[in-house]
Amino acid sequence: MNGELLYLNGQFGPLAEGTIPIEDRGFQLGDGVYEVIKVMNGRPIWLEDHLDRLRRSLAAVRLSVALEGHDLEDVLPELVRRSRVVEGSIYLQVTRGVAPRDFVFPHPPSPTVLAYTRSKSFPTAEEILAGVTLHPVKDQRWARCDIKSTNLLASVLAKEEAREEGADEALFIGGRGVVREGGSSNVFAVMDGVLRTHPLNRRILGGITRLHAIDIARRLGYEIVERSFTLRELVGPNGGCSECFTASTTKDLSPVVRVGREVVGGGRPGPVTLHLLEAMRAEQALLVGMAPPAALT
Ligand code: PMP
Repeated sequence: MNGELLYLNGQFGPLAEGTIPIEDRGFQLGDGVYEVIKVMNGRPIWLEDHLDRLRRSLAAVRLSVALEGHDLEDVLPELVRRSRVVEGSIYLQVTRGVAPRDFVFPHPPSPTVLAYTRSKSFPTAEEILAGVTLHPVKDQRWARCDIKSTNLLASVLAKEEAREEGADEALFIGGRGVVREGGSSNVFAVMDGVLRTHPLNRRILGGITRLHAIDIARRLGYEIVERSFTLRELVGPNGGCSECFTASTTKDLSPVVRVGREVVGGGRPGPVTLHLLEAMRAEQALLVGMAPPAALT
């Protein structure tokens, strides 16, 4: 298939022909970490940030050795070039590799390092402006959500429940009703004129889009605080937020128009959300040598 090229343990080849042994620990134990990187104009976006986070995830699961001999700073742009993907993403995964099935680490490990590209068009302006809906679910994930682990069963179940409820994304709710993050996104809200998002800790993944959204918001002069809020504060009887949006690599910033049964921001994307998204789109275009995109509205 056009645009689907695989890098597997040092070799490039068609994605459909790549194979992984049954006793790969990623497959049997979820013993691995991953990244998803946006590709625009045939170039990866914010690659260094993603590789930094990959290194942090690998260190946290004691697998830093895996990247020895893989110069991903060069390999990933090369993979995208060879694949001829213009718009899409890179999926990158590192596992503790193949060994007879056992929970404890194999010595020495023979890690699996793979990455592949996929073509996918980004959402159109109409799709962005239509907004997304969130379905609140109890957060049943483990206590190290800061590691971008391939153990995603709780997220799979949450996102499937959201889909069955007709929502676009799950919203993970922690103890005392705290809004943590989306099923595969971070969550921001505008409350009393201040941008809020959950602080970085082990309860959320430190999103790369979140990082850049905060940076852009500060540069544009918005007041932003990394302080959590509850579901009641987000959409409760006291008025709730004026705006809410999710942040993730493949969708940038998505305006939230409904949470559960409650309409957010009158059901339309808010001005702060659109301002940040326009700035983010312009910044990404500049990074990959494209003309600034047309205004959303
Ligand atoms: N939180 C979770 C749980 C996620 O899975 C993701 C996306 N993988 C994000 C946040 C957003 O992270 P990023 O902006 O780096 O895509």
